[in-house]
Amino acid sequence: MKHILRAIPFGFMLIYLLSGSAAGLDWRDLDLSDENSALRKGMETGKIMDAGEWGAKTFPLLAKEIWQNNIHQGKKQPYPLSPYQKKWLTPWLEKWGIDPLVIQIVYEADLLNNHKILDRWPIAIMDELAGQTFGNTIYLRQPHKDKDGNLLVLLSHEAYHIKQYQELGSIAEFGRKYTQGYVGSFFSYENNPMEIEAYNAQDQFKQWLCSQEGWSCE
Ligand SMILES: [Zn+2]
Repeated sequence: MKHILRAIPFGFMLIYLLSGSAAGLDWRDLDLSDENSALRKGMETGKIMDAGEWGAKTFPLLAKEIWQNNIHQGKKQPYPLSPYQKKWLTPWLEKWGIDPLVIQIVYEADLLNNHKILDRWPIAIMDELAGQTFGNTIYLRQPHKDKDGNLLVLLSHEAYHIKQYQELGSIAEFGRKYTQGYVGSFFSYENNPMEIEAYNAQDQFKQWLCSQEGWSCE
């Protein structure tokens, strides 16, 4: 049986901001039309410097929120990797030092995109999100599809964020580094070093998968 892999999906670990009162920040004070001046102004006023601290405080709350929304209120169930997913992903998970058994996936999840704390976030990049990962739990917008290469590639991206989380030791430290990377690259999703790493991992996985017997990649 031939498996067709058509496109690289977007697997996103999110970025969120910002309930100003809790963090004491208002990013909308920055003039975003000029990257350099906005970055400079943010640093001068201490706003950018506080981004890591904000991330460390907020990511654990977000993790709790998305869990409650989906599992408690949404009555959804977290699933382990399917045998098929395990078959293809395990060599890479082992390489990344992740135990395949710790991964949980929530399909058809309500993501935090339109969450109230996003109100103050100045840049609209949330619409494209396919997934968000907190700790060992991957939340995907899509339903489960059996024997689906695109889903495997998406999971490889999100699993790499699990590796980052495990190495950093906590969701708070993940949030700190992720937010610093996001702000440090001037609010760029794709230039955030944490995302660059995850996309590189995803690309390597996809390339490898395409070279495996029975796979065909367009
Ligand atoms: Zn990502």
